[in-house]
This record gives sequence, C-alpha cells and structure tokens, in this order.
Amino acid sequence: MALGQPLEPLIYPAPQLGEHDVRVSVSHCGVCFTDIHAIDDYYGITTFPFVPGHEIVGYVEARGRMVSGLEEGDRVGIGWQGRSCTRCEWCTQGEEQLCQDIAEMGTWERHGGFASSATVDGRFAYPLPAAMPSEVAAVLMCAGIAVYSPLRTYAAGPRQNVGILGVGGLGHLAIQFAHALGCEVTALSSSPAKASEAIGFGADNFVVTGDRDRMRPIDYAFDLVLCTARGDLDWEELLMTLRKRGRLVLVGFPEVSTNPTDVVAHELSITGSFLGNRTTMREMLSFAHAHRVAPRVEQMAMADVNDAIRRLKENRARYRIVLTNDIKAPAADEKISPRASRS
Ligand SMILES: [Zn+2]
Ligand SMILES: [Zn+2]
Repeated sequence: MALGQPLEPLIYPAPQLGEHDVRVSVSHCGVCFTDIHAIDDYYGITTFPFVPGHEIVGYVEARGRMVSGLEEGDRVGIGWQGRSCTRCEWCTQGEEQLCQDIAEMGTWERHGGFASSATVDGRFAYPLPAAMPSEVAAVLMCAGIAVYSPLRTYAAGPRQNVGILGVGGLGHLAIQFAHALGCEVTALSSSPAKASEAIGFGADNFVVTGDRDRMRPIDYAFDLVLCTARGDLDWEELLMTLRKRGRLVLVGFPEVSTNPTDVVAHELSITGSFLGNRTTMREMLSFAHAHRVAPRVEQMAMADVNDAIRRLKENRARYRIVLTNDIKAPAADEKISPRASRS
C-alpha cells in the first residue's frame, strides 16, 4: 500500500517472535480514524508498505519464553501501543503511553491488525472479560481507552459538569463512560439529528453547536470539555463553555487555533490526552464490563476494508466499524498450555 491509496493484499512473513512477544490470530479489528491518518501519513511517521489496524481482538497462537499470564488459546485485546522501551523515565513510572520511543511502539510498527495475525509484546495484550463480545472489546482497545483515561483522571471527582464535543466513534463512548462515572453530561454536536441517540447513550443534556445564541445558556457551564471532534472548531465558542479554571481535553487531532485572551483571563487549561497506561487499560475493561459501556458497532468482513475506510471518511459509520476474520475460537481442549502438553 502506498501513501493515501486503497489497501491491497500484502503477503509477508510473520515477524520473529521475541521472548516477550505473543502472536495473536486476529478475529476482529476496529477501524479508527488514526488508521486513515496513518495511511495519509498525517503524522509523518508511516513507512510503506504498511498494515494499519490497532483495535485488535484475537487468540494467542504462540508466545515467547518470557511471557507470563497468557496461554495459547487465550482471547486478548490489543490497542494502538504494542510495545514500549521499558527503560525510559515514563516506562519506569508505568506511563508507557508516554514512552520516549513511542513512535516506534505502535502495534502497526511490525504490521497491524488488518491481517490474519499480529505480533506484539505480551505485556500489551490484555485478557478480556469472558462475557464481553469481541467486537465490543476491539473498539474499547483504542476508542475506549482514549476517552476513559482523561475522564477518569479529570472528571471522576464529586459530580463534575462535563461536556462531550462530538457524538461519533469516540464521543458516543465518552458519553457512556462520563455518565457511568457519575458526571452531569452534556453532549455537544453540530448535528441536531444526534440528540435522541446522545440522550440514549446517557447524556443529561444535548446542545447544538454553531449558534452563539443557543450556546449562551452553557457559558461557563463545564468543569471539563472532552473534545472528540476533528477538523475546524469554533474555539471561541468552545472555550466560553468552560468554567473559570476549566479544562479542555483533546483526544483527537483537531486544528488548534485560538487567541490566548480567554485561556489566560479565565485561567483555562488545554490538555492533550493520549491513550492510557496498562493499569488504566485493565481498569477500563473491567469498568466497561461492569457498567455495560459498549460501542455501537457495524461489522464488516476484513476483505471489505476499503469500503469500511470509505464509510468512515464519509462520516457514515454508526458509530464504529469492526472488521472480522472468519476464524473460530479455539475449543477448550485445544487450549493446551505448554505445561499441560508436557505432562
Ligand atoms: Zn485508534
Ligand atoms: Zn519507554
């Protein structure tokens, strides 16, 4: 595949299995806007040919000798981060998503999840709650952690007033997580048609953006606004919704353009948030399971990946697309651990 072009089949040898690695047969892989950005080399770090895909669910088919806690046949989820350097100041603090070498640590660095198998460090392959459907788990591995982590960090106090900007793949999960965390949730969208679904996801209020008069009642309303939208935003309108000392958190990659007056005079914070660490990932999975937080998913065959990408680009995915490979879960008697097989 070349820059910005449709994906085409690629046959490549499975990467060598390092001693900490697992190789996972991919049953499901979500399509995230970050994949499209990578295909278009928006971040300037893509090397071609390149296999996108980083919302992976599948079964461990092989593991290196240092892997602990995972057996062949276990169902696991894998997100954008497939490894880390393990040595930098951030890795040693357990904030692996900030690893100094993060650009080389993406799942897709050794070929991502739009594939029959993916190979990552086993420490970044997470066992899944048994009753959680694989298509749900897949989306939680990137979209889920991306919104849960900042909400957990900044909005989990006594009833916080939270705005979620954008009711799409990230936003519809953010509304559910914020509601489950006990926040007063207002969904903000330029599309009035999203109102009833946003309320259904757990929003207490819905406000249409893009009309200053209609926005007046929510001036100074929010402790936190989580921006899941992309593209051009009306920054002045958005910052006016924050309480003094409020916080705007960016989890996508919108165009940032604002004059500093409100930021300074209202002592506002604009914060980026990137995925989450391994501890938060495990917590997010059990929190989502306990509170029935689940993405709304369309499933498509892996072979239809280019159609899926087109739907996402045209903003027609409701709300997230998960690609599937036709593989079966290993039967219980095939889940033979090396220990069992020696006995
Ligand atoms: Zn993603
Ligand atoms: Zn590191």
